[in-house]
Amino acid sequence: MTLDNLLKTRANLEERIRQLIGRAVMVIELDLFALPCGCSGYTANTRGLALDDLEVFEEHFLKLLKESAEAVGVSPGFIFARIIPGTQEIAALNVRELCPRCYSDFATTSGKRPRPDIYIFHLVKRKRK
Ligand SMILES: [Zn+2]
Repeated sequence: MTLDNLLKTRANLEERIRQLIGRAVMVIELDLFALPCGCSGYTANTRGLALDDLEVFEEHFLKLLKESAEAVGVSPGFIFARIIPGTQEIAALNVRELCPRCYSDFATTSGKRPRPDIYIFHLVKRKRK
């Protein structure tokens, strides 16, 4: 993974979301992150994206986010969107490799909207060890 690759992935993600929904959505920042608990992944901060778009184009977004995760070396275990509370606006798209503790937290929640600020696209089921 190089920074050049990160820049290209941001541009590509933005371009493909625009093509998909036909509006000038912006990916204003693409961040890789590592958390103290052991989770890691990437966050794409967006402007101009709405919850409706995700629901209508769910399969397309899933494919798009999996591909950009691969491009930056993140394994797409958990894919979700963060919604600005009290609105239909999407603040960020997230692809995260969950640590065991966060995995069990999320695995026991059910449905697409376990919390009002989260929309879940995808959670890979893990085999029990
Ligand atoms: Zn974690």
